[in-house]
Amino acid sequence: MAGRLPRDPEPWPRRRDQALANGVLRKNLAEVTRRLARARLVAYGEYPEGEQRRLRAREAKRHAIHHLDATLARLTDAFGRRGVQVARAQGPADVARYVLDVAARRGATRVVKSKSMVTEELELNGALMAQGLSVRETDLGEYIIQLLDERPSHILIPAAHRNRAQIRDTFEQEARRAGVPAPASDAVGDLTGFAHDRLREEFLAADIGITGANFLVAETGTVVLVTNEGNADMVSSLPPVHIVVAGIEKVVAEWTDLIDIIQQPALSGIGQRLSAYTTLISGPREPGQLEGPEELHVILVDNGRRSLLGTPYEDVLSCVRCGACYNVCPVYRQVGGHAYGTVYGGPIGAVETPLLAGLRFMPELPQSLCTLCNACVEACPMDIALPHHFISLRRDLVAAGSEPAAKRLTYAVWGRLWSDPRRYRSFVRWARRGQRVAVRQGKLVAGPGLLRGWFLTRDMPPIAHQTFHEWWDQHRGPTGQGGDTL
Ligand code: SF4
Repeated sequence: MAGRLPRDPEPWPRRRDQALANGVLRKNLAEVTRRLARARLVAYGEYPEGEQRRLRAREAKRHAIHHLDATLARLTDAFGRRGVQVARAQGPADVARYVLDVAARRGATRVVKSKSMVTEELELNGALMAQGLSVRETDLGEYIIQLLDERPSHILIPAAHRNRAQIRDTFEQEARRAGVPAPASDAVGDLTGFAHDRLREEFLAADIGITGANFLVAETGTVVLVTNEGNADMVSSLPPVHIVVAGIEKVVAEWTDLIDIIQQPALSGIGQRLSAYTTLISGPREPGQLEGPEELHVILVDNGRRSLLGTPYEDVLSCVRCGACYNVCPVYRQVGGHAYGTVYGGPIGAVETPLLAGLRFMPELPQSLCTLCNACVEACPMDIALPHHFISLRRDLVAAGSEPAAKRLTYAVWGRLWSDPRRYRSFVRWARRGQRVAVRQGKLVAGPGLLRGWFLTRDMPPIAHQTFHEWWDQHRGPTGQGGDTL
């Protein structure tokens, strides 16, 4: 069954043009993505056994996905033995209902969260706030974009599109609203200090903590959280109720698998061998223990994931959300995550979104946001065949008849003209005559019909006054092997 994902009402051309016109955004993105892409290369270069670990991680993750039902059943049994309450959710409404039921039973009004892309995908914050709950994001990047009422623009660094001066402006507005001192400067210490002070109150007052899960280990029923800020430890241990919301693909079978897999988001995403904090949670607080939540719930979310199983797209579910494909993608580097119009951007988002939400959901993602340069698959630690999937999705879209009639006609005519040598040469002769009206200063700057949009941002050399075929016909000798020397 198809899932439900958020969708920006702005059409793709407007999202694209807004991003391309925003010089600050593009500068911020260029700095962040270049730094992270370089850090990945350095990290692998300094870690000789990294490649072997990466290959083992890929195999283990693929195996867990390929045997998903069995692995999930094992996980659920293990959780049950440890007093964890496990629920399965089809989509956003199920998850919101579950959390609201827990909140109502506990009389809870305040929720703190650590970074979780699946809750962004489910628009959980909005659903909870609509019912009167206060929800506060506690990851620094998520806190910034929550204040700005924006979606994450990068899978690993939600506020990658904002620089320090912009973040200071945002915090100054928040300080005025809350009547507290603003950060003294845009130095990192001042900005993080401001967030630290603001969030401390939220941690202490929260009734429910919501986290995602980087991994779920079926062998022992363990939630694994990997962060660089430590906020997930506060979210999962201070409030009396901890709710984990995780996609079903987060499960891995054994600890021996996790040892290799757990390195991959840090190595490929930020160029570190391991993230700063790794937290393992295996159940609620037991009698005699001093800390931990009284209740631990795990909600396993489908939202379209199961429909990929057993298909040529199954490897997409082995994504570890490292963001490496974002950092090397020439399209993402120019337009940023918001231009994708939904939660997941970059190459993985442009492939995964229509697979989760249905082929006709934002067809521009596989069609218009990939140049097929192959940089993403070279960066991906899980070897997800992203360029191949882009082509397959485009083929699926054509097969589904979702292309506009004008486009189908254009390609049909073009294909007919260029698939036969005589027709091709005749086309070249006619086009050479017709192009005269579109040539300015030696460049072709306009085209008819659908080609008009293509020429808005690109110039091409005009068709040569003599093509190679014409030159060859003119110069080949009586044997047909070529007469003149070049
Ligand atoms: S597709 Fe690969 S590179 Fe991109 S986020 Fe997922 S694991 Fe990382």
